[in-house]
Amino acid sequence: MSDHERISGLLPLAAAGLLDPEEERVLRRHAAGCADCAAALRAWQAIGAGFAALPQPAVPRDLAAATHRRLAAALSAEAARRWDEVVLACLALFGWTVGLSMWAVYRMVGGGYGALVEVEWAESLVWLTGTTVLAWLTAGVAAVLAAQRRKELWRRS
Ligand SMILES: [Zn+2]
Repeated sequence: MSDHERISGLLPLAAAGLLDPEEERVLRRHAAGCADCAAALRAWQAIGAGFAALPQPAVPRDLAAATHRRLAAALSAEAARRWDEVVLACLALFGWTVGLSMWAVYRMVGGGYGALVEVEWAESLVWLTGTTVLAWLTAGVAAVLAAQRRKELWRRS
């Protein structure tokens, strides 16, 4: 790599004032004898001055506090969502347990303990279909309620 190529690569850093004194001295000495590098250095310095003249964005004073509040609200909403999922899973398990228990009680009331072993498939299929539809309806209602609650939490945050 020639001296000219190496110095050309340093020009943007020189314009930004990021070179150490030795690099700065080498660059200035090269630019004094190289019209291309001198012109490029002037162009880079003009660009740097233009950036410095741009208005700086004003950072609101309470940005950190507002960001902290929004983060806390987001974490709270996430915790509420996880809690909703746990509650829905428990409700589903409870629903299936109640359905199965009711089936066992119904069979025993109708035919004693023996009826639990002698399963009539057609009757069981009707029971299974009925409880499944009931569980789906319950899950649908629970999902709608959870969605409404989540929408309400989003509105508040
Ligand atoms: Zn040069």
